[in-house]
Amino acid sequence: MRRSSISGLQASVLNWYEANGRQLPWRSSRDPYRIWISEIMLQQTTVAAVVPYFERFLRRFPNLSELASAPEDDVLRLWEGLGYYSRARNLHRTAIQIVQQHQGVFPRHLDDLRALPGIGRYTAGAIASFAFNQPAAIVEANTERLYARLCGIDDDIRKSSSQKRLWDFAESIVPQEHPGTFNQALMDLGASICRPADPQCDSCPVSRYCTSFRLGKQHQIPVRGKRTAITKVSELAVVLQRKKEFLLRRRTEPERWAGLWDFVRFEINDEMANTLTGNTGLRRPWRHRQAPVSGQQKLFDDIVPALPDELTSHVRNLTGYGINGLIDLTEFHYSVTRYRVRLVCGLSAASGRKMTATEDYQWFRMQDMETLPLSRTGRMISEWLKSRSG
Ligand code: SF4
Repeated sequence: MRRSSISGLQASVLNWYEANGRQLPWRSSRDPYRIWISEIMLQQTTVAAVVPYFERFLRRFPNLSELASAPEDDVLRLWEGLGYYSRARNLHRTAIQIVQQHQGVFPRHLDDLRALPGIGRYTAGAIASFAFNQPAAIVEANTERLYARLCGIDDDIRKSSSQKRLWDFAESIVPQEHPGTFNQALMDLGASICRPADPQCDSCPVSRYCTSFRLGKQHQIPVRGKRTAITKVSELAVVLQRKKEFLLRRRTEPERWAGLWDFVRFEINDEMANTLTGNTGLRRPWRHRQAPVSGQQKLFDDIVPALPDELTSHVRNLTGYGINGLIDLTEFHYSVTRYRVRLVCGLSAASGRKMTATEDYQWFRMQDMETLPLSRTGRMISEWLKSRSG
């Protein structure tokens, strides 16, 4: 793009933003801490979903030192439901690192920012430009689409050659003055005008600089390679109970939801899931009844007479406890990344040796689960247990 066009584009974007910029809670200050928290939360998550989490998080951890001195469990509990939990663990690690290595002062330079856990090129650019007014470029979901259309990139934007073009373009247009405002304006323009499915080209302030619009290709760009196919998976969660306590396990790296607690849960094949729930041509002796909690659940109300040996021995190997059968069998369905999961779940009294609580496995009462950081499945199951007992 020519120099004069870049100046024209910058002015058009900033004028549009003055009248149309979004009011968001993290934009009310230049505090790098608030900006950092919001940017990490916004990765893979919508603005609407982030706002309540952001406000709650800032109430509990109003500054870097409060976050650095908190137990990781408290951070994870507040993050629960936002997903991608490595973000929360990195947030905590970064807070500790800034306190220990930067005397509690947020670094200003891109290289120092990128050396921190969980801060990539985009987040570093966002913090440097929004908080410190440095002319750093950004490319995130909204600007990626906007730049691809402005430049008319008709190759797969996930290719490294396309990413290079996008970043080069972003570097070429970021102004020396008001770079943070300019970057925020681009993000808003992408979110509200250059929308994924229905770009509003007629009301777009930069349409005269847009290659896709000129070529009538705004609906074909950006180009993305084929989506990864959905994989169906079946799992079994065994809720081991001992008097009023339930056995949970803290998940570890590299598992999904590492750091969060979950019930004993593992993959089973579809045939086994069908056998357990009676969803096959072979009718089982237990009956189906209405779900008490949500339409996502089915509940089976008799005791399963016995579990296949392979399952009881698997549970024993994992936990040290034997199980006799599953009571109150239920079924949940959830999606995570490219997986559609059918989760069969049942209660069982723990029998056999008394296992000493290890770091990974511990017994918890129902009320402990309110404050415990639970995985998504852990929270589903604990809510179900609550509804059973209530
Ligand atoms: S003219 Fe259309 S495609 Fe081009 S940037 Fe504006 S909204 Fe997007």
